Amino acid sequence: MGLDELYREIILEHFRSPRNKGRLDAPDLRGEGVNPLCGDEVALGVALDHDRIVDIRIEGHGCSISQASGSMMTEAVKGKTLAEAETVAHAFKAMMLEDGSPHGEVDLGDLESLEGVKKYPVRIKCAVLAWNTLLGALATKAKGGRESKVVEE
Ligand code: ZN
Repeated sequence: MGLDELYREIILEHFRSPRNKGRLDAPDLRGEGVNPLCGDEVALGVALDHDRIVDIRIEGHGCSISQASGSMMTEAVKGKTLAEAETVAHAFKAMMLEDGSPHGEVDLGDLESLEGVKKYPVRIKCAVLAWNTLLGALATKAKGGRESKVVEE
């Protein structure tokens, strides 16, 4: 199995069996994200203990890349502090939007399977949607808010 094929399998596996799917009853932060170009939507709920993400749930619909990336995102940030989550988000976006590799100190795990999406520039917005939604929620929290919405343009 080639690397591309392996990566495709990882993406499809997350798409079929998304991690942390659903919604929290009383999230501390809520974020919505929309990528109109592809029709992808995600909604995040985050439960915090001080500045640590103790739980995160995601629901949404759209293409396999957007939904798999959301699943991987929840796995990558659950249990982390907000600052650590932000670091992972920036590392992932650097991989997708800039030359990106090497990924420095951050171990992106399954997320590295999404790097191949760079070959299809129109799909990059699909891959970063859940991450921009998370960053939007964090930025809103920094301003004292709880609800945020991000629309990819
Ligand atoms: Zn998409």
